[in-house]
Amino acid sequence: MHVTTRTMEETKHIALVAHDNCKAHLLRWVNEHKDKLKDHVLYATGTTGHMIERESGLEINCLLSGPMGGDQQLGALICEGKIDMMIFFWDPLNAVPHDPDVKALLRISAVWNIPVATNRASANFMISSPKLAEKVEIEIPDYDAYLTERLG
Ligand code: PGA
Repeated sequence: MHVTTRTMEETKHIALVAHDNCKAHLLRWVNEHKDKLKDHVLYATGTTGHMIERESGLEINCLLSGPMGGDQQLGALICEGKIDMMIFFWDPLNAVPHDPDVKALLRISAVWNIPVATNRASANFMISSPKLAEKVEIEIPDYDAYLTERLG
C-alpha cells in the first residue's frame, strides 16, 4: 500500500461514541476533560451527542443514532479525512444490533490511521498527549496511487 500524509490542524475534529452501557462512563470522561475538549470540534452519534450536549453544555455535531446509520455516517467522514480521532466506548460485554456497523467503523478507522481510544485508559492517554494541541502529520493511504495501480 502506497502512503501519503495528511495534516491534522491544532484544532482536532474528535468523534465521541458510546454504546448504551458505556454512555455514563463517556459522559463522566467528557466532563473531566471538558476544558480540553471545548477547544476542538466535536462529533458524535445521535444519542451520545445529544446526551453530552445536554449534560455538559459542549457543542456537538450530532449524526444519526448509531443503529440508524450514525456509525456509517461517521465512517464516511473518516474516509473523507474529516475526523482526526475517535473516542469509541464500545460495549465488550453485550451484543448490539448494529454489530456489522461497529466493525466497519473500527475497520475504516484502521484503514485511515486515525487514533482510536476504546476505553477510559486509552482515552486518558490520548487527551493528555501534547499532540492534541499541535499540528500533526499522519500517514494515510495514497488513494490516487491505489487507484492508478488498480486501473493498470
Ligand atoms: P447512539 O449510537 O449514540 O445513537 O446511541 C451509538 C452507537 O453507535 O452505537
